[in-house]
Amino acid sequence: MVVVMAAEAGEQEIDGVVDLVRAAGGDAFVSRGVTRTIVGLVGDVEHFSTLNLRSLPGVSDVVRISAPYKLVSREHHRERSVIRVAGVPIGPDTLTVIAGPCAVETAEQTLASALMARAAGASLLRGGAYKPRSSPYAFQGLGEAGLKILADVRAETGLPIVTEVVDPSDVELVASYADMLQVGTRNMQNFPLLQAVGGVGKPVMLKRGMNATIEEWLMAAEYIAQRGNLDIVLCERGIRTFEKATRNTLDISAVPVAQRLSHLPVIVDPSHSGGRRDLVLPLSRAAIAVGADGIIVDVHPHPEAALCDGPQALVESDLRELASVAAHLSPLVGRTLYLLGGINQPPRPPVRAASRR
Ligand code: PEP
Ligand code: MN
Repeated sequence: MVVVMAAEAGEQEIDGVVDLVRAAGGDAFVSRGVTRTIVGLVGDVEHFSTLNLRSLPGVSDVVRISAPYKLVSREHHRERSVIRVAGVPIGPDTLTVIAGPCAVETAEQTLASALMARAAGASLLRGGAYKPRSSPYAFQGLGEAGLKILADVRAETGLPIVTEVVDPSDVELVASYADMLQVGTRNMQNFPLLQAVGGVGKPVMLKRGMNATIEEWLMAAEYIAQRGNLDIVLCERGIRTFEKATRNTLDISAVPVAQRLSHLPVIVDPSHSGGRRDLVLPLSRAAIAVGADGIIVDVHPHPEAALCDGPQALVESDLRELASVAAHLSPLVGRTLYLLGGINQPPRPPVRAASRR
């Protein structure tokens, strides 16, 4: 933290700042410039914040230098973290693909989607049983019946499951089925929910709020971390801008920015970003090229009949290309596509050169 003294501040006022900080157990270093003096503070920034330094005579501004988040910052943990979801790694050496239906609708649709997910090179299955819909009239999800379907499909396919929780009172129930809990964009600042998922002992995927800055996103992650859970994966899913051609605007620069500020893995959701099937593959390529630690995509066996987000779901004919994109691009960015059953197994289905479309 730095205290900027007013141009007209005298020695007595500078000493006033130094004395107060030292009396509070910190240290202060005075740097005299031609027109201005600044005082650098060393010690507990949170404690300094309570001293009301800004109101001291001669003080012009107080500037916080270190990030307001701590546990999720790279200052706290220099190396980039690897988060394991039922053994599946998400981190700097791998590319992890998560795929599945937007919503769990039926057992058949979920199983078909899981098989599609595996064919697309996915090692985790996504699917919502609790859907936070913008409209109260839209399909809200099957609730616990949907979680049971996911658990059955996991048993059949071996794919660990990632599923959303929207209410703090459901966290224990959802965690009893899920391998990873998802907090969606609409709940990124639902602080009781963040605290609840922080205390339940399961990895969490935290989507960026559609109107949230990167700093607010990391502060939300800090809420989870503060409850003792550092198994957090950040997911960039597009933000609100003036542009209407896409559902949201994928903030591709958020990936390296968040990775520099935080040790947590950062993945990209190209499906909810663009909201259009034809954009999912191009945005996936961009995400992998920019250094995302994984991607999460919607798939559906019959998108025209989907109860949620059909227009963005990949179909059967897209899967081979997604697997090919993931397999071919990951070594170019120093990663291995993580596949269930062993990291060095050849991708399935057989790959062909990534198309340039
Ligand atoms: C989802 O992944 O199903 C979802 C609702 O995403 P978001 O919270 O990003 O809209
Ligand atoms: Mn969706």
